[in-house]
Amino acid sequence: MNLEAHLAPYAATSTNSPGRTFAEAAPGSRTEFQRDRDRIIHSTAFRRLEYKTQVFVNHEGDLFRTRLTHSIEVAQIARSIARNLRLNEDLVEAISLAHDLGHTPFGHAGQDALNACMKDYGGFEHNLQSLRVVDELEEHYGAFNGLNLMFETREGILKHCSPQNAQKLGAIGQRFTDKKQPTLEAQLANLADEIAYNNHDVDDGLRSGLITLAQLEDVDLFARHWREVEQAYPGIAGRRAIHETIRRMINTLIEDLIDTSGARIAAAQPQALEDVRNAAPLIAFSEAMQAQAALLKRFLHENLYRHYQVNRMTSKARRIVTELFDAFLHEPKLLPPDHRVLLTESAESRQKHARKVADYIAGMTDRYAIREHRRLFLVDEI
Ligand code: MG
Repeated sequence: MNLEAHLAPYAATSTNSPGRTFAEAAPGSRTEFQRDRDRIIHSTAFRRLEYKTQVFVNHEGDLFRTRLTHSIEVAQIARSIARNLRLNEDLVEAISLAHDLGHTPFGHAGQDALNACMKDYGGFEHNLQSLRVVDELEEHYGAFNGLNLMFETREGILKHCSPQNAQKLGAIGQRFTDKKQPTLEAQLANLADEIAYNNHDVDDGLRSGLITLAQLEDVDLFARHWREVEQAYPGIAGRRAIHETIRRMINTLIEDLIDTSGARIAAAQPQALEDVRNAAPLIAFSEAMQAQAALLKRFLHENLYRHYQVNRMTSKARRIVTELFDAFLHEPKLLPPDHRVLLTESAESRQKHARKVADYIAGMTDRYAIREHRRLFLVDEI
């Protein structure tokens, strides 16, 4: 049975793909991309997402999003849109669930700190690290390192890439050099990520008390849906009013993305996946919606991500990551044996050691990093 027979001719499929780096027998009762999704869910890095910060550090409260619940929300949004556009739902799900696997502990603060630590050793970038996790670091299979995922899944994970890194990556980096588009499924997962975090950060921001409803009156995308909710349910208040508003915002963004992308696809008339790669990006919001989403994003940047209470955590996170890195870099013997490399005086071996330290730190959950920092720096801690 062809499980992908319903897909649009320009969708990515198990058969129009360059496939996997290491050839494997066809999966039988699943599509190739279902198999990818399943491998991702069973990976070690996926389970770690539960204890990694999205905006709020895991121990700050049980109800805030973590990277795990964020990734599940991205997958849900991406699948809804994919089904409407007859794109490959299994592929968007796989990309969505894997897109944050390479994130360090403590969100962007952790990544910035690790990037600064690695500046003499090739830098650190979470997109590249997500690819490294699925290509190299997972230890699940006898025949290969990593998860041996399909080309399109890996391509979707590698959302951005600098020209220098693109050259080093070979086939998977080629589209950045050639300035071509990835699959529609990759374009879609990217925008589903934006829809998810813009909305759940409003929810988490309000829950934390760091932003207020009064401030959000200036943000049209929120304010007009809020008014709609007040009209539909006079007297509604509290969490219920917030949730009613946010679900409307998500819905509006999804509908706009489906309509706009559908129209762009109809105008470009791609006949096959190759046409998608050569076209302008076809998955997009309308200009009006893009502008409204940008305003919301700016609001969150100014009022939530740079709130002084968030800054305090960011600053602590930076110190933890930097101090861990310095300790491991200068005293390799502090590392658990499976994170060590054979160290010689050569620059190449220093480089390998630094990368191994970065891999170790990037793999840590928030609470593991905090514990490891205490073990190394507090004398009465073991
Ligand atoms: Mg994300």
